[in-house]
Amino acid sequence: MKKRGIAKLGQILGNLNAGHLKDYKYERQRPAPWSVRENGKWIIKNVRIIDVKQGIIRPETALLIQGKRISRLLTKTENDDRLTLEQVDDVIDGKEQYLIPGLSDLHCHLSLISEYEFSLKSLYYFDAQREKNCEFALSKGCTFVRDSAGAYDMVHALKQEIEAGRLLGPKIFPSYKIMTPQGGMWDVNKIVNNIAPMIFGGKVISYPKNKSEIAAHIKHVVDMGAESIKIYLEEKPLYGGKEDQAYNMFTNEEIRFIRNQADKYGKVVESHAMFISGARRAIQGRIDSIAHMTVDAPYTLEDAKNMVENNVAIIPTLSIGSYLAMNCGKAGSPDHPEYKFYRKMLEKYVKPNLCKATIPEIRHCYTKFYDFIWNKIENRSMPGIGRVYPDRIHGFGIQAPKSFENFKTAKTKVGMGTDGGTGITFSGSFEIEFEGYKRYGYSPAEILRKATLENMEILGLDHELGSLESGKYADMVLLGKNPLEDITAIHDIKKVFKDGRCYIDNE
Ligand SMILES: [Zn+2]
Repeated sequence: MKKRGIAKLGQILGNLNAGHLKDYKYERQRPAPWSVRENGKWIIKNVRIIDVKQGIIRPETALLIQGKRISRLLTKTENDDRLTLEQVDDVIDGKEQYLIPGLSDLHCHLSLISEYEFSLKSLYYFDAQREKNCEFALSKGCTFVRDSAGAYDMVHALKQEIEAGRLLGPKIFPSYKIMTPQGGMWDVNKIVNNIAPMIFGGKVISYPKNKSEIAAHIKHVVDMGAESIKIYLEEKPLYGGKEDQAYNMFTNEEIRFIRNQADKYGKVVESHAMFISGARRAIQGRIDSIAHMTVDAPYTLEDAKNMVENNVAIIPTLSIGSYLAMNCGKAGSPDHPEYKFYRKMLEKYVKPNLCKATIPEIRHCYTKFYDFIWNKIENRSMPGIGRVYPDRIHGFGIQAPKSFENFKTAKTKVGMGTDGGTGITFSGSFEIEFEGYKRYGYSPAEILRKATLENMEILGLDHELGSLESGKYADMVLLGKNPLEDITAIHDIKKVFKDGRCYIDNE
């Protein structure tokens, strides 16, 4: 993938360290064979169509697709008539299996790679892993992602390859560069800030000083094609820096300004907020969605009600509960049931994923990071970043039950995202999300709705995506079992369709 400046230098050094002059060439997965003409019609019949809005199986048993969209839902008799009347290119037998809309991941990073045990040599393989991330997400039934931060050259290149049908992957709703205030989270120091693009394949963060720089940042990312504006509202570090350190945060006035600028371009705003003070600023500032759960205090019922009032959703990204469930020996909360739950998730889902989701050449960056989380290490330090604060990282799980209880009472909009790309999490891999939502009291129908329609409502795209209705994009997943009975049925994927084409066929 094309890189510039320090990112390009990183690529050259990576290649040389791996003993090559040219970039690594990744052997991409091939799409399933497909014989329908462009804009042609085809039918999927004998299928149980799931209405995610109501959580029921629809009376119709077939879908007529034309081009990229669902043309009509058909009853058994209508389907038989159509088959004799219409010229269709193909008929797929759904074999009485279950059809759901494509899943969506509302917070992930397709272009981010585990930097654990980072070496220049591993940079040679980073682009390959970026492509693998896209393929893996689609294989999980994820047909849409919001990419919540990544270098433009990387995310845009993946998006282009996917749209041209050359790379298997989800539709990408990009954010590109994040905005954090000077002295805010991830404003580490000049040297680190300048070297980071080597790892990320380009610049990922900007550090505006004032309103005019904020306006310039937003215009810049919108000009690049960003659909979502990503900011940080973080009060303290989870690791690194000093324990009593307080980060600079955007002021309420600056947040209002960001909101207005985003409205001017018709874009949504997402904020990273893991401490309640930042989350409350996001709520007050009518940020469309907050990423992650809080670690220092739960969302109160009042917070949850304010979220409803101000139209603020949350994307909890429960998968990072496992990332943060680091064994710190006696420190933190090793006996707490939530800590134990996320440890169990780590072993049950993350470990087996590591082989499937990574390319062999840099798999060790992931497996060794897993070991780092798993092993008992007192006085932990994140390599290259600094001390870990056990009470904060374990707080993620500990605060979650009360927050969810309040979200449910207030009817706060809760979406779904994985934070894939952060070390041991993978875009579109929802296993821990599903188990977590189940644990916090949501039914399979509610969970399915979150991963489809509710996510699209948060982005204002529900008129195009998120359910199986005529006129919407034919992004669909065929499952062997009924997800309304057991949400883990989503892991048994038979086929994945996107834009009216079958890309993955496991049958
Ligand atoms: Zn993230």
